[in-house]
Amino acid sequence: MTDIRSYFPLLSQTVNGKPLVYLDNAATAQKPQAVIDVVNELHASLNGNIHRGIHYMAEQCTARYEAARERIRAYINAEKAHEVIFTAGTTAGVNLVAFAFGERYVRAGDEVVVTEMEHHSNIVPWQLLCERKGATLKVLPLTDSGELRMDRLPALLSHKTRLLAVAQVSNVLGTVNPLEEIIRIAHAAGVPVLVDGAQGVQHGRTDVRQLGCDFYAFSGHKIYAPTGVGALYAKEKFLDEMPPYQGGGDMIKTVTFAKTTYADLPYKFEAGTANYVGAIGLGAAIAFLETLDAAALQAHEQQLLRYATERLQRINGLTIYGSAPQKGSIVSFSLSGIHHLDVAQILDKLGVAVRSGTLCAEPVMQRYGVTGMARASFAFYNTLHEVDALAEGLEKAKKLITN
Ligand code: PLP
Repeated sequence: MTDIRSYFPLLSQTVNGKPLVYLDNAATAQKPQAVIDVVNELHASLNGNIHRGIHYMAEQCTARYEAARERIRAYINAEKAHEVIFTAGTTAGVNLVAFAFGERYVRAGDEVVVTEMEHHSNIVPWQLLCERKGATLKVLPLTDSGELRMDRLPALLSHKTRLLAVAQVSNVLGTVNPLEEIIRIAHAAGVPVLVDGAQGVQHGRTDVRQLGCDFYAFSGHKIYAPTGVGALYAKEKFLDEMPPYQGGGDMIKTVTFAKTTYADLPYKFEAGTANYVGAIGLGAAIAFLETLDAAALQAHEQQLLRYATERLQRINGLTIYGSAPQKGSIVSFSLSGIHHLDVAQILDKLGVAVRSGTLCAEPVMQRYGVTGMARASFAFYNTLHEVDALAEGLEKAKKLITN
């Protein structure tokens, strides 16, 4: 782990006079030097707007942007590079589908299904769509342990259901959802599936063809790439049939005031100057991950999860939310008698960064009857020693507040 950590310059800092213990990886992950170098290189010595110029700078940037698309295609095993659309992140990808899919396929009286564990980014775009079209949002509920009520899924899907949107991994409960089973059931009912991969893509390989999902959205910044870029995988059939999401430069074939025709895929869905620096940075992040032993890193993350769960459970008055047998390296909790914001603030004074609040998932808070939670989320560069620092910090917080 010492070796891995040395790739991430930010991790060796001190915060508030203490060594930084960064446990907010589900919010955003830190960047390896390889990604920082690529972004710096582009800004310092290689910058030209893609797909437009025929000069050296533009052509080089275009080639590297398209190479990044191809790298993502291979990484998630999409069939075709033009099934990968660059976006600003997961939220942008979900909004793109909610708008364009909604325009094409959703009518008054139709239904869209989400789950009770979704991040707001995979709820609100569907609510907007339903409001626009007079459709209804249906919700697949959770069990107390934070798993989806799979027994309820078949009855939720009907001839009115146009799409099911579900997280790969819950950003609060850590639950890894049984996607293959969900997709099989949905497809048997003729319902396409969008997977929110924001908390899944960084924890081992996702194969969109094996999953069979129709849409898969993820964010670069959670997979060690720059902020403000992400990708949306969509099956060609849908991309062909859906109208453009946004209009502007690069997404057109010809424009006249009488009629505009649209560019071929994937450009039909990439209006305006793309974040090509971010996209090339995302390609570099994936190239970096490909040099590492994914299975070993995943095993280490699972070890951190087990150790943190055991260690935190020993703290009197601490409740962990989410105990699914398949969990990503996320531990959300509350400490009796201490507000979650105070927990995070005291930990910060000790150099330990955790998230606190509603975690962009208010329905999950409502499900567990709390106003918020604190959350520690681990990346492969975290250590068991950092879990100890978290647990010791929580003991200190308890003493400070309850004495
Ligand atoms: N979905 C899930 C499950 C998330 O955890 C997040 C971010 O935390 C998002 C969607 C939104 O990601 P972004 O803000 O990068 O668009």
